[in-house]
Amino acid sequence: MKSVDFDTIVIGAGPAGSTAAALLAENGHNVALLEKTKFPRYHVGESLMPFCYFPLERLGLTDQMDEIGFTQKFSVQFVTEDGSQSRPFYFFQHYDHPSSTTWQVLRSQFDELIMDKARENGAEVRELTTVKSFIEESGSIVGVNAISPDSTAYQLRAPMVIDASGRDTIAQVKHKWKKRDPELNKIAIWTYYKGAKRDPGLDAGSTTVAYLPGKGWFWYIPLEGDVVSVGIVAEREYLYNDTRELSQIFEREIKNNLWIDEHLNCGEQFGKYWSTGEYSYRSEFCATNGLLLAGDAYAFLDPVFSSGVFLALKSGEMAADAVSNAITNNDFSAGQFNDYGKELCKGIEAMRALVYAFYDESFSFGDLIKSNPDLRGDLTDCLIGDVFKDFTELFGAVSDFATVPSKLKHGLVA
Ligand SMILES: Cc1cc2nc3c(=O)[nH]c(=O)nc-3n(C[C@H](O)[C@H](O)[C@H](O)COP(=O)(O)OP(=O)(O)OC[C@H]3O[C@@H](n4cnc5c(N)ncnc54)[C@H](O)[C@@H]3O)c2cc1C
Repeated sequence: MKSVDFDTIVIGAGPAGSTAAALLAENGHNVALLEKTKFPRYHVGESLMPFCYFPLERLGLTDQMDEIGFTQKFSVQFVTEDGSQSRPFYFFQHYDHPSSTTWQVLRSQFDELIMDKARENGAEVRELTTVKSFIEESGSIVGVNAISPDSTAYQLRAPMVIDASGRDTIAQVKHKWKKRDPELNKIAIWTYYKGAKRDPGLDAGSTTVAYLPGKGWFWYIPLEGDVVSVGIVAEREYLYNDTRELSQIFEREIKNNLWIDEHLNCGEQFGKYWSTGEYSYRSEFCATNGLLLAGDAYAFLDPVFSSGVFLALKSGEMAADAVSNAITNNDFSAGQFNDYGKELCKGIEAMRALVYAFYDESFSFGDLIKSNPDLRGDLTDCLIGDVFKDFTELFGAVSDFATVPSKLKHGLVA
């Protein structure tokens, strides 16, 4: 084999890639983290789940999270079309632990914090460096072809590559591994407001999910500096039914939920309107020889329960552990990553089943808990991100109200 430049190359410095790189470097491995943009860069996905705390704790970043002064999030609440508000769901009532106060983050700052940690731990971070393709030899990935900031093409070699390129999904595109979720095919339009209404006290930083029955839902995420992130998620045909002008669609939809309308009334929209076809997907495979997928580069789930950053951090952490083992065993074959794939799919499936229930017209969390008060704890576990456990009983009960999807068979090693 030709000489190698690094033990591991990580593509993408979002939460998944930077976490993997930081933990591998901390473990003494020689890691390159390649990021196509220059940080800080904009990213959507500001609302964290309580269990983000644990990967952040392992990274040694929880104190810095508090020092930065991100908006504290104590709860999530659900609002109906006519503006009726559920009792906020306070995480600390379920689990009396520091993780129960989580954060609404400015992703530019949050992602840079983790990338800086990777650098501090010894990873070689190269920004403005775009990975164009993989180098494949004798059935294994052995490096990448990249473009440097001055547009020079070059190769980097390593026995292990982690694809954490987010929704660019480099490996899925190259290998044609992308499998869209059969039902979760919504799109999102979002923007930002200044001076919009905040609920009082503990609820000031709450995430609100406001329903548009039969159509979709709004997110309302209070951020620092009196800014609120507001977005709508719904079917493409519905949103684009009379215009493709994002601002007009947004204005039209605000009027369809009283709570959203009332909260935005006193605020002022600023900046652009963003949109994405945010179709949910999972890669047919999580790994092949010399290659492992993490974060959105592996799977993306509808953002209704704010699970994306958590799954990115967690899969970054799990990828670092799996790759550390592979380095120790000097074995980078796909089989090394069997457990990684199985465990990650377990957590994703729990969230996915909950997302399906959310979109099922005949389902309500209230009815589920009224009939099964003993399952409140399991349901809460899902909502806070404690998802790597057995939820057979919970989803058995959910199936009395809503269709629970069959587990996807793909997503394991090639
Ligand atoms: C509309 C919407 C709303 C969302 N809301 C939430 C929310 O409220 N809460 C939540 O937890 N999640 C939310 N998410 C999901 C969340 O944004 C993602 O799950 C999360 O950012 C995934 O992290 P990641 O590290 O996998 O990828 P990313 O954060 O996307 O990072 C990938 C990085 O790879 C880099 N990259 C890409 N291609 C290359 C390349 N070829 N070479 C080098 N670098 C490359 C990119 O520049 C980027 O920096 C939302 C998503 C959407 C679409």
